[in-house]
Amino acid sequence: MTHLMNTYGRQPVAFTHGKGVRLYDEAGREYLDAVAGVAVNTLGHGHPDLVQAVSRQASELIHCSNLYRVLAQEKLSDRLAELSGMDEVFFCNSGCEANEAAIKLARLYGHQRGVELPGIIVMEHAFHGRTLATLSATGNRKVQAGFEPLTPGFHRVPFSDIAAVRAIAEHSRNIVAVLFEPVQGEGGIHAADLAYMRELRALCTEQQWLFMVDEVQCGIGRTGSWFAFQHAGIEPDVMTLAKGLGSGVPIGACLARGPAAGVFKPGTHGSTFGGNPLACAAALTTLDVVARDDLRGNAVRQGDAIRAGFREALKDVAGVKDIRGAGMMIGIELDRPCGVLVARALEAGLLINVTQDSTIRLVPPLVYSDADSRELVDRLAPLIRNFLAGA
Ligand SMILES: *Cc1c(COP(=O)(O)O)cnc(C)c1O
Repeated sequence: MTHLMNTYGRQPVAFTHGKGVRLYDEAGREYLDAVAGVAVNTLGHGHPDLVQAVSRQASELIHCSNLYRVLAQEKLSDRLAELSGMDEVFFCNSGCEANEAAIKLARLYGHQRGVELPGIIVMEHAFHGRTLATLSATGNRKVQAGFEPLTPGFHRVPFSDIAAVRAIAEHSRNIVAVLFEPVQGEGGIHAADLAYMRELRALCTEQQWLFMVDEVQCGIGRTGSWFAFQHAGIEPDVMTLAKGLGSGVPIGACLARGPAAGVFKPGTHGSTFGGNPLACAAALTTLDVVARDDLRGNAVRQGDAIRAGFREALKDVAGVKDIRGAGMMIGIELDRPCGVLVARALEAGLLINVTQDSTIRLVPPLVYSDADSRELVDRLAPLIRNFLAGA
């Protein structure tokens, strides 16, 4: 027993160090990592550039407060603006905080336009975090149960159903924004149709709603473009980032453009730790390495190879419903709950994740080699086959 609050169902393993796409436990056993700290370790483990940048920054200045200018934060905001086409960035420490900022921004935008009780459209199976506002925006009863009263003001529609959004536009006068994930991660690795994203963007423009994309999981090169919305050739008004941005050093960001820019003023929002020099150094290095080593291209190559590998290896296997995803977000949906596979894979030296009870979720570091991708398929496919055969 420890004194930890009992908030996680943890696997019985503790890692002491990592190198590249491998982790090592207390006994020195090696594991191939296809979880990456849940889409966090963009550069894998112990990446020399990241270790050097974080070590150097730690020796110079770790934290100094947003009461002062933070040069690394200014530089990172320039870089993110350049990559995304957004105008302004607010830094925080996590995905839920980034979404809290987006929700507050949307409400403030609404009030500034005379909407008394601003509403935000959200999607079924969405995941936006576990603070009170973000769990209310989340489309999963398990995340909300027991925490009522929920934060009001969210209107839920099915994912990829533009008619449902249009129907709200016709009879609601208080909507000010749409919040959605271009690729739902926790929801089971579902990529939105590009045509749907464009229609949603156009509808938001027509209605003067903010189009807000939650790229906390799918951003930072994971789907092959810097941000998943870019596949649709559109521009959001608000974007949120976190997970992969700092490759493991906690940092989140809420970006705004066009009508969403200039909504926050001094005193309307803030964060003690947000965008401190250490976190910004990690994020700047992550972006540099993703660009320099073409990790976006690699995400597409490896993700396609992994999906093709599983399709081939599992092609005659009953019980495999779908193999899908975008870049290094890979979903293998089975016809039954398969949470037990996580422990079996762990025993076999593989780190995988299962979401929505029956979908194997693989979100590996973006630094996988061809051989790593092959190894993942060769070692995991037999476990899936045996599981479905009832063994
Ligand atoms: C993980 C996740 C969040 C929440 O991020 P935290 O850092 O855990 O608060 C929000 N949105 C999406 C899409 C996520 O995948």
